[in-house]
Amino acid sequence: MPPEVVFLNGGFVPYDQAVVPVEDRGFLFADAIYEVIRCYGGRFFRLDDHLERLEQSAAALEIPLPYDRARWTQVLEELIRRNGVRDGSVYVQVSRGVAPRAHAWPDGLQPTVVAIARPGGTPPAEAVRRGVKAITVPDNRWGLCWVKTTGLLPNVLAKQRAARAGAYEALFVRDGLLTEGTSSNVFVVREGVLYTHPLANILPGVTRMVVLEVAREAGIPVREQAIPVQWLERASEVILSGTNSEVLAVVEVDGRPVGDGRPGPVFARLREGYLARVAAETGAAVDVGA
Ligand code: PLP
Repeated sequence: MPPEVVFLNGGFVPYDQAVVPVEDRGFLFADAIYEVIRCYGGRFFRLDDHLERLEQSAAALEIPLPYDRARWTQVLEELIRRNGVRDGSVYVQVSRGVAPRAHAWPDGLQPTVVAIARPGGTPPAEAVRRGVKAITVPDNRWGLCWVKTTGLLPNVLAKQRAARAGAYEALFVRDGLLTEGTSSNVFVVREGVLYTHPLANILPGVTRMVVLEVAREAGIPVREQAIPVQWLERASEVILSGTNSEVLAVVEVDGRPVGDGRPGPVFARLREGYLARVAAETGAAVDVGA
C-alpha cells in the first residue's frame, strides 16, 4: 500500500500526485542527501541526531536546507500523523533543485524536499532470533562516505550481491579493513572487546552511537579502531547496527560461521540496551525480550 500523502516542497500531496521535474538534480546526478528516521509508538527516535547529520550532509554538499530543526520536526510529525504511521519510518530527501543539465550548478536554486512515511520496517523476528548471514565485498565507494547522499550505487550493487547469495547484508572491505555494511555499521567482538571502525570515511550511524552508549554503560570494553578482515575468522561475534536493522547478530560471513554460529551474549546485551533506550526516549511499549 502506498502512503496516503507525502510531503513535497512545503505541502502535503496525495502520493500519486507527488511528482518531481525530470531535470531535478537528484534524478540527474544523485545531487541530493537523505535521512531515514524511525518512529516507535508515534514518536521519533533520536530525531535531533538525524537532523544534525542532515545539516552536516547539506553543508558538505553546499545544499541550503530550507527548514530549521523545529520546522523539520513539525513537518515530520504531521507526516506520520496524516498517514497514521505509529511504528515505521520516514524517508527525507533534499536535492539541490531543478536546473537545465550541467555539472556545475547555477546560483539561487530552490532545493527539492520530499518526505515519505511508511509503517513497519523492523527486522523480522526470525532475523533477530537466529541472526543473519553476510558476505564481504570490496569497498569501492568514494572518499565522502560520511555524507549521506543518495549516490548509493556501490551500496545497491553490493546489497544485490548479498541478496543473490541469500545474505542479509554485504560488509565493505577497504585496504583489508572492515569498514561498514551497505546500510549498517558493523561491530566485531574479539576476546571480550567490542571493535568498530572509527569515524573516518564511514557513515556516522545514529544507531552506532546508541550501541556505543549502551556498551559503555554496560561496562563492555569498546575500541573504535580499524578491524582487519581476517579477524572475522576468530571473532566470537559480529553485530550490525542501523535504523532499519536496529541491532542484529551476524552468524555467518562468506559461508563460514561466526563463533558458534548463534547470536552471542554481547549482541543480546546491546540489543536489549538499544530497545530499552527506545522505550525510555519514545515512551513506546517495545518488547525488549523479542
Ligand atoms: N552505514 C551506511 C552506509 C548506511 O547507509 C547506514 C544507514 O542507512 C548506516 C551505516 C547506519 O546508520 P543509522 O544507524 O544512522 O541508520
